[in-house]
Amino acid sequence: MFICEDCGAIFEEPDVWEEYRGECHGSPAYEKMCGCPYCRGGFSEYCGDDECEDEIPEMTDEEYEEFISKEILKLKKILKR
Ligand SMILES: [Zn+2]
Repeated sequence: MFICEDCGAIFEEPDVWEEYRGECHGSPAYEKMCGCPYCRGGFSEYCGDDECEDEIPEMTDEEYEEFISKEILKLKKILKR
């Protein structure tokens, strides 16, 4: 995925087109260009929110039970004060 640096649009594939660059040795010269499909602006790679998925720790049921009981103990200690 890519993100446009001009309009902020997110797209899968950049638009590719040929731009006329005048005549070169009697034949028309075209230059291949690529950019945002909406405004033809510059773009950079965009990785979405893949990073967020790594933040969720994977726990087994036993680890979860242990985690919860520890949290309950902490809460009980706080409540006793
Ligand atoms: Zn754009």
